[in-house]
Amino acid sequence: MKKINRIAVLCSGGDAPGMNAAVRSVVRYALYLGIEVYGVLRGYQGLIEDDFVKMSLRSVSNIINRGGTILKTARCKEFTTKAGRKKAAYNLKKRDIEGMVVLGGNGSFKGAQILASEFGIKIIGVPCTIDNDITGSDMSIGSDTAVNTALDAIDKIRDTVTSMERIYVVEVMGRKEGYIAIRVGLGGGAEDILVPHTEYDIERMCDDIKKGRKKGKISWIIVVSEGVATAKDVEELIHEMTGYEVRSVTLGHIQRGGSPTAYDRILASRLGAAAVEAIARGNSNKMVGMCANKAVLTPLSYASKHCKEKVALDKELYRLTKILST
Ligand code: ATP
Repeated sequence: MKKINRIAVLCSGGDAPGMNAAVRSVVRYALYLGIEVYGVLRGYQGLIEDDFVKMSLRSVSNIINRGGTILKTARCKEFTTKAGRKKAAYNLKKRDIEGMVVLGGNGSFKGAQILASEFGIKIIGVPCTIDNDITGSDMSIGSDTAVNTALDAIDKIRDTVTSMERIYVVEVMGRKEGYIAIRVGLGGGAEDILVPHTEYDIERMCDDIKKGRKKGKISWIIVVSEGVATAKDVEELIHEMTGYEVRSVTLGHIQRGGSPTAYDRILASRLGAAAVEAIARGNSNKMVGMCANKAVLTPLSYASKHCKEKVALDKELYRLTKILST
């Protein structure tokens, strides 16, 4: 097999805690294998605008514990056009860069797939998104940290909820998926969770609140996933239907920041190295994920497919939350 001499690495889409740990792993593992590495700044935007930096062992010092990404990340409209991707491929080829590791989510992988097929660049994706909505990896880098950050906020809200005897609605991130909401709901002892893929019913919830109050249950935390409704809308609905005082908060981007958990750092370190290994062995158009504690490759086209197992697990955790919150 022809040896790969030079690769690039970039971050694309939303940032996720642990991206830095993954960049560090890609750079240091590639250098260990004798492969030169270029970092591309601002994702596909930097690829088109020729924003490359040569990486060394020292370029990635002291970043394993930092949130965000030193390479910066971006969303790039021009990359969705053939002309944009042609410029991107030209900038890679003029440096004799044969392979690239893309750290990102579903959208980034769709772009990577097209670039790999159109211009023959060997691309391996590494799942980095707090939403954990990628098929082919039990967890994506950043999702464990996001859940822990949101859980920390819920614990603090619980202190005031119990002291003030309140109903509190907390909106967490997660787009169309309920990954964060369900874990935070179960781990934080929420009374109810409003998430996609499960049957949620505001009327039933308001009945439960009224019945609960009669039985002496005085404080409630309701977690809502951003893909379902806003915290403010749910707050107003509950107030209208029960007459009780309700408060709400949207946790927002704090869930994307902060120092990655040990889990995310270790996952990122393993997947970054596995991505380089995969390119060195001649793989392309694949994503490396962690399944049952083993690094496995799946076609990039499969990564954005809906994961039935994840939905089934969400349903099971939702059911458990409801039983345990009575
Ligand atoms: P996150 O889950 O954090 O949002 P993501 O990778 O899904 O991450 P997107 O904004 O969906 O984030 O995609 C990132 C970038 O990937 C886009 O800005 C665009 O440049 C590129 N991209 C997305 N979809 C396509 C596509 N169909 N064709 C070409 N490029 C695409």
